[in-house]
This record gives sequence, structure tokens and C-alpha cells, in this order.
Amino acid sequence: MKANRKIIITIDGWSSCGKSTLAKQLAKELDYVHIDSGAMYRAITLFFLRNHIDWTRTKQVDSALDQIILSFEYNSKSRQSEIHLNDENVEYVIRDLVVAEKVSDVAALGPVRHFAVEQQRKMGAKKGIVMDGRDIGTTVFPQAELKIFMTADKKVRIERRFRELYEKNPNITIEEVRDNLEMRDFIDSHREISPLRQAEDAIVLDNTNLTEKQQFELTLQWARESIEGVKH
Ligand code: C5P
Repeated sequence: MKANRKIIITIDGWSSCGKSTLAKQLAKELDYVHIDSGAMYRAITLFFLRNHIDWTRTKQVDSALDQIILSFEYNSKSRQSEIHLNDENVEYVIRDLVVAEKVSDVAALGPVRHFAVEQQRKMGAKKGIVMDGRDIGTTVFPQAELKIFMTADKKVRIERRFRELYEKNPNITIEEVRDNLEMRDFIDSHREISPLRQAEDAIVLDNTNLTEKQQFELTLQWARESIEGVKH
């Protein structure tokens, strides 16, 4: 009976630990929905940049948010759910460094967090969801049955992100990637509202020396145990 119970799995942690990759794999295996909450903050930032929103002005932020509709839609070619901003697929453009440079400032704004968190909670109302981000286990779903907090050696994280971005943009430098990662981690963990921190009841996953397969098998075991009702 319990084996069919649907739970909420949250994956939070530092930038470029591979949270989304793991979340995707777990969701696929368990037949759960995967939501990349970072993609939502990135899409909002893209809208702000394109429309020259001055996000130090609350009025401009509020009226911009009124014009934003975010949705996740399954792409049968890439076999993953991809984010749409007002009906445009922005899954790939939001990964640009231009967006990454501003996203932590935008994600620190109260109205932006309120806008995103409200939608994230609706998406998880039926459970059967794996959501990754920075504040999912602490703020969005404090009641989640399984909370994973991911970390990895900073050098390893920088190299991984560099390899990923270099494929699309061979002009990118390792220094740019390092600066962006350090800046985001700093802003994300020092902001006033819902800063990045480990939930007290989260399990820490340091994947510095783990292969993707090892990490997947380990966390799938945790997920199965949580579905059975085991507390970690
Ligand atoms: O996960 P990703 O690196 O794509 O997230 C981009 C940015 O979005 C983070 O650096 C952070 O500023 C913000 N974010 C957040 N809360 C979340 C997810 C992401 O503030 N739950």
C-alpha cells in the first residue's frame, strides 16, 4: 500500500552541483513530475532584461510580474519538461551567462519570490514531484518527505559548469564561470528572504567523488525508503 504512496522530494544546494540532473533522473524512474525552480527565476530574469525593467522599483517589478506566465511543457524530442515564458520555449536561452549574471539579484526580491513560490506550491499539491532549487526544503515544501541537500567541491563544480557552457559558447572562460558561481552562491546564501541553507531534516549528498550512477542509485534508495515511510 505504502509503496504506491506519492511523496515530495526536494533537492537544494549550491550552484552547479548537478541538482537538476539528479532531479530529472529520479522523477523519470519514479514516474514523478520534475520541476526546476531555478528555471523559473531565470525566465523571470530574462523577461526583466528584455523589457528593461528597473528591478529596484517595486512598481515596475509588480507590473512586470503581472505580464508573466510561466509553464513547464513536455518536449518529446528532448524528452524533458521545458520552461515556457508567455508561450515561448526559453529553456535554452535562460542558461546564458547574461541571465546567470543577474538572476540572483532578481531572485532576492520579495515580490519575485512570492510569485514563484505560490506557483511551486500549486505544482506540488498532488505530490509525486521532485523539485530542485535553493529554498525548496526550507520554504516551499517544509513538509516534504525527503529532502536532499547537495554539495560538491567548488573546483569540481566550476569545471562541470564550464564544460557544460563551453559546448554552447567556446568563448567562455573558466574565470567567468568561477566568478558567476561564487557570486551567485554568495548572494543566494546571504539574501534576506529564504536564503540558501540546509534544512535541519535534509540528508547531505556530497557528490565530489561520486559518479552520476552511484549518486542516482544512492538517492533512489533514499526515495524508496521514504515512500515506504522510513524517516532519514
Ligand atoms: O538552479 P539554477 O542555478 O538554475 O538557479 C538560478 C538562480 O535562481 C540561483 O542562483 C538563485 O539565485 C535562484 N534560485 C532561487 N531559489 C530557487 C531556485 C533558484 O533563488 N529555489
